[in-house]
Amino acid sequence: MKIFRTVLFFGTFGAIMLCPTVSAQDVLTGWFSAVHGDMQPGAEPEHHMKYFLTLETGDVVQLHIPEGLLSILGDIEEIQGQYSEVAGQIHAGVPQASLDVESLFYEMPRLRGGTVQGSKPWISILVKYSDIASEPENLAFFNGMYGSSVGQLNHYWQEVSYQNIDVLGSSSSDWRDLPQPQTFYAPTPGSGTSANLTAVFNDAIAAHDPFVDFTNGGTGGYEGINIMINGVLDCCAWGGGRFATIDGISKSWRVTWDPPWAFGDEAVIAHEMGHGFGLPHSNNSDGDGNPYDSPWDVMSSATGYTMTDPTYGKLGKHTIAYHKDRLGWIEPGEKLLIDTQGIFTVVVDHLALASTPNLRMVQIPIGGSSSHYYTVEVRDQAGNYDGNLPGFAVIIHEVLSGRSEPAWVVDGDAVPANYADTEGVMWRVGEKFSDPANEISVRVDAETSNGFEITVSTISCADAFLAALSDWPGSEDVITLLEQLFCD
Ligand SMILES: [Zn+2]
Repeated sequence: MKIFRTVLFFGTFGAIMLCPTVSAQDVLTGWFSAVHGDMQPGAEPEHHMKYFLTLETGDVVQLHIPEGLLSILGDIEEIQGQYSEVAGQIHAGVPQASLDVESLFYEMPRLRGGTVQGSKPWISILVKYSDIASEPENLAFFNGMYGSSVGQLNHYWQEVSYQNIDVLGSSSSDWRDLPQPQTFYAPTPGSGTSANLTAVFNDAIAAHDPFVDFTNGGTGGYEGINIMINGVLDCCAWGGGRFATIDGISKSWRVTWDPPWAFGDEAVIAHEMGHGFGLPHSNNSDGDGNPYDSPWDVMSSATGYTMTDPTYGKLGKHTIAYHKDRLGWIEPGEKLLIDTQGIFTVVVDHLALASTPNLRMVQIPIGGSSSHYYTVEVRDQAGNYDGNLPGFAVIIHEVLSGRSEPAWVVDGDAVPANYADTEGVMWRVGEKFSDPANEISVRVDAETSNGFEITVSTISCADAFLAALSDWPGSEDVITLLEQLFCD
């Protein structure tokens, strides 16, 4: 029987250990990378993760981390790029070595994760399998994808981040040949998870290195690398991080691996870049294993309810307030954290608005927790990227830090919908979400010019009533007070 144990050092290392079942272990040190694998929209929805360790030699070992250890590790973005020590059983393996991880120690403080601010130029490097000649799009297509017109990625990221980031200075490098055929890199093209992302990455960088200054003019390097491939990989497009030394720069690069169906819809590239920026998926509340069933987030159902562009297909939409806040794109004055008991009436504007004198989000701790809470946001069929959302409504997420999709859309229906485009997740004027066990309720009072007035209560009906009675002027009707105080 395995026993899980968490070991915390209050020094420079955070450590999480799964007690080994065997005594002889191999120990490796290096930089940790994680990538998300996303199925082609329309395929059986499945989410995959791969983990790697880049050794000081530059060699990369794939890490197999058991579920039990993953659940203890929590938010994998906290570890992205961290110098780590892993122990377990190593397997020589072809095409690359792998390690069955039994313990993982990582250096703190984290190097990645956290907020994302400023100019973030990416480079697209276009690569062809040696046995596939097609060039699905030309260089101008990929350069234009980073453009500043509506529908192009610089415009998109500027709008979504409220000008906190841009991708100005991004560029593309024209098609180059990989040295190997498709099945060398992806033994089962279009299915499975066996693509050798390390070989694709190394060979793609090598193919473009003579033509690309990855230092980006000595600025510390491109922020991220989109590897655009002329044929399918395995099941998925992949996005996340990769620690590597390129043109003398050693860092955790933001990296995506994109088959043609990925760059066929810019929404998919936005989603993978979102993983690159450190975002997880969000989810609905139906409890299945599919994290692609919320249309309110580019980081969930990326290609559902989108705007479209004649050149770049389905476009990314905004990401949810929790994700924007996580990346530091919600100003302090735009977020209300309700950490006291009471009744609060506020105006929340829709998330696609460029600027607002009101709120963009409300955060309501559950049981006073800073890692378990509700977020309240407003979404509208408005703007360049949210125009085709399912509706204009208050949307509530329950956030639990550490689970693989921290934010789940709250669904008011008794049985949560398979896909969160239903009335149950859209809180409209006159409706109220209640969590009586935690004495939390959110009522939608009225529509405003760009959102809704809402009233949040974090006090029980009885307490609210007693508090009101204590300074009751005596002239109001008690029923009106009860109504005001949520005692439906
Ligand atoms: Zn994903």
